[in-house]
Amino acid sequence: MTIQDRKAIPIPQVEERLPIPKQNLRVPGPTPIPPEIMEAQAAQMINHRGPEFSAIMKRVTPRLQYFFQTTAPVLTYPASGTGGQECAVVNVFSPGDHVVSVIIGNFGTRLAKIAEAYGLNVTKIEFPWGQAADPDVVANRLQQIAPYRGVLLTHNETSTGVTNDIQSLATVVRNDNPDALIVVDAVSSLGSLPLEMDPWDLDVVFTGSQKGWMIPPGIMMIAASERAWAAHKQSKLPRFYFDWSSARKQLEASWQHPTTPPVSLFYGLDVALEMMLKEGRANIFAHHAQAGEYVRNRVKALGLKLLADPRYASNTVTAILTPEGIETKALLTKLRKEDNIVLADGQDHMKGKIFRIGHLGYFTQEDLDEALNAVEHRLHELGFQG
Ligand SMILES: *Cc1c(COP(=O)(O)O)cnc(C)c1O
Repeated sequence: MTIQDRKAIPIPQVEERLPIPKQNLRVPGPTPIPPEIMEAQAAQMINHRGPEFSAIMKRVTPRLQYFFQTTAPVLTYPASGTGGQECAVVNVFSPGDHVVSVIIGNFGTRLAKIAEAYGLNVTKIEFPWGQAADPDVVANRLQQIAPYRGVLLTHNETSTGVTNDIQSLATVVRNDNPDALIVVDAVSSLGSLPLEMDPWDLDVVFTGSQKGWMIPPGIMMIAASERAWAAHKQSKLPRFYFDWSSARKQLEASWQHPTTPPVSLFYGLDVALEMMLKEGRANIFAHHAQAGEYVRNRVKALGLKLLADPRYASNTVTAILTPEGIETKALLTKLRKEDNIVLADGQDHMKGKIFRIGHLGYFTQEDLDEALNAVEHRLHELGFQG
């Protein structure tokens, strides 16, 4: 085929652009954005190599350290939560390293897959969906599995609505192997649920902007302990974009990034952290705990069953078993089309079997009530007798 034979691509005929609908978005991320943050994000661009951007990073970085509860530098990347998972793996391990992956749902599985994709030797400790990782079981298995270089944990498993007891799990790992690297996926928990990186002796912790931080998707935040930084210096996995050394160097030299950051999202994060500090960490945790309890109680009162072990039910997302005879998709479509309420389906083998309500980041009691009232109404419309 010659160049002359090639056809020009015609102007595409696409659907007309409509306004973004006003919805009660109750999925576990992205979450709605407060008006003051939306306003901040609409500001004009600035030079990411200029003093105005550095001024933002000088505020944002120590405030993130406070929410992580760490003295380690918190590095930020343009990425979603999965980027955090990959960033954690590539910066501390080497090909063939033996790591233990503690899996309680879909996001734990994803973290293990990333480790496998990078040539790590992964041993899995799996628990049924809806259960938390039992520290005693993990302790026993670790002794059989040893030696290992690291342990991959999920703090809040968004696919099942379960929160692991990370402090107990980290203690178990540390007792078994003082040098192990403890990697914690805190994407849907940090900023909303108690998690203390330094006091709990965690090595790598990461989170994503669209979960508990009241800003859109696009910023991933990650911090590493001194143990993890030492491992980083030795680690041989290939990396460039996610390399911690270049990010840290640029942050320490100029309060900037090695590549162009999502500037508008940093306008938002700057305001979000200000709002979060005004509310107070303990108050944020308390209002998420209240929301979790409230949603679970209302759901149970409707005659519905929860997926999560009640001892470990998440205060950022609730997974509800779809009652017999009801199609999850029909329920979610009705809620979206008729009530402008958006809930999440299950993931992987739980797709169609559960639906999930997010209660993290920015929400009001009215948002939760409206969603729960509509679930009740639409379930009965679909024939639910509960
Ligand atoms: C949302 C989430 C992720 C990553 O998802 P992205 O879609 O890449 O942002 C990873 N882990 C957990 C626990 C999550 O909730």
